[in-house]
Amino acid sequence: MSCPRCQAEEKHCRLEHEGREAGEIIWKVFYCQRCAFTWRDSEPTESIDYEKRDEWFQVDPDQPDQYPHNIPPAKLHKNK
Ligand SMILES: [Zn+2]
Repeated sequence: MSCPRCQAEEKHCRLEHEGREAGEIIWKVFYCQRCAFTWRDSEPTESIDYEKRDEWFQVDPDQPDQYPHNIPPAKLHKNK
């Protein structure tokens, strides 16, 4: 297993939660400590397989200058 967004190795993918049903683990949630992506292992492969995701989804945590905005700047409205 590796991160679906940045391909970080498994050692960087922290187990966050185990979904259980009748005491049995049926899914797990992981958090990537390199790029902050979070995913559930039961999501469709189109969502969590690095090779199947669109290229725009891929992130290189070693090149943070490529991503000037994680969240678009807020459009502030002045009060009248
Ligand atoms: Zn990652």
